[in-house]
Amino acid sequence: MQKDTFIKFKALIKKSNNIVIVTHYNPDGDAMGSSLALYNFLIKIEKDVTVITPNEYPEFLHWLPGHKKVIPYSVQSKKATNIIKKSDLIFTLDFNNYSRLEGLGELLKNSSAKKILIDHHQQPDNYATLMFHDVKACSTCELVHEFICGLGGKKLIDKHIAACIYTGIMTDTGSFRFDSVTSKTHLILSELLATGIHPSDIHSNIYDTYSQSRVKLLGYCLTEKMVVIPELQTAYMALSEAELKRFHNQKGDTEGIVNYPFSIKGIAFCAFFSEGEGKIKISFRSKGKFDVNQFARKHFNGGGHINAAGGRGNEFDLQKTVQSFLDLLPSYKKEILKK
Ligand code: 5GP
Ligand code: MN
Repeated sequence: MQKDTFIKFKALIKKSNNIVIVTHYNPDGDAMGSSLALYNFLIKIEKDVTVITPNEYPEFLHWLPGHKKVIPYSVQSKKATNIIKKSDLIFTLDFNNYSRLEGLGELLKNSSAKKILIDHHQQPDNYATLMFHDVKACSTCELVHEFICGLGGKKLIDKHIAACIYTGIMTDTGSFRFDSVTSKTHLILSELLATGIHPSDIHSNIYDTYSQSRVKLLGYCLTEKMVVIPELQTAYMALSEAELKRFHNQKGDTEGIVNYPFSIKGIAFCAFFSEGEGKIKISFRSKGKFDVNQFARKHFNGGGHINAAGGRGNEFDLQKTVQSFLDLLPSYKKEILKK
């Protein structure tokens, strides 16, 4: 855990006039929830602030308050570049190394703006002026809640900000069921509910908006693609670009599929491979002690958390990437099976 003092945060925010909030490539519920919660708060304290994402994010997050003001760098790169060049303070949310920004990373590297990192992933890089980092936090949204309260802004948390924070906590905890959930998480949720948000509506906005083809893709993955290796308590699925095309894959459609094999008794390690955009994207999930952050870092150019991490294949070849994963498994047997 590394948290600078609120005296420092307050002073830096006070003297900054052009603030930017940046989150990681392929933003998820926690990335957008935390960015837009902070955005809506900073607007309330009359700051000039813009949210810039490396690329677009799934439609099921487009209802989040402030969405219309977000600038995806992949779509409006000139505008985003100008805003970053003009900025004097950049918040980096829900990631901790510039490689998670793809092309946008260079811009931040070359920017002289001060940086505040708010994040809960393992092993942060050393680029930030000030840090608000805690791997024990269930989500970046939980940290943004603590951050706003630390700045003295608790009373300013309205329905809009609360809905953003609730979204990130819900999506990053598998709807409040992961090990990362604490009594503190539930206390925050209770405070958020008191603002008048409707949890069932938020849940529906995120999880009950699938297209038919997305549900069919899930069915296809489970019946045709899932491979279970009982002696290693491991399951994986690998989808080619053609298969994704067949199910009209949209951004975000494959999110969460990696977790389904955990419903099978005994499964402790899941992986999901997908081919697209010139790379093999991989998601790793574990139950128990097996550290998939280390695994992803060491073998697949990635990282994340102990029980949830991502990475990419070392070459653009789905079969070879899966094979290299399978070749590694026996040497991790002990760790995967450890409770
Ligand atoms: P997902 O599998 O859902 O894409 O990612 C799981 C977790 O790992 C998320 O918290 C995500 O931010 C992180 N993650 C995903 N891909 C990468 C990567 O390439 N590098 C790092 N450092 N973290 C990643
Ligand atoms: Mn997160």
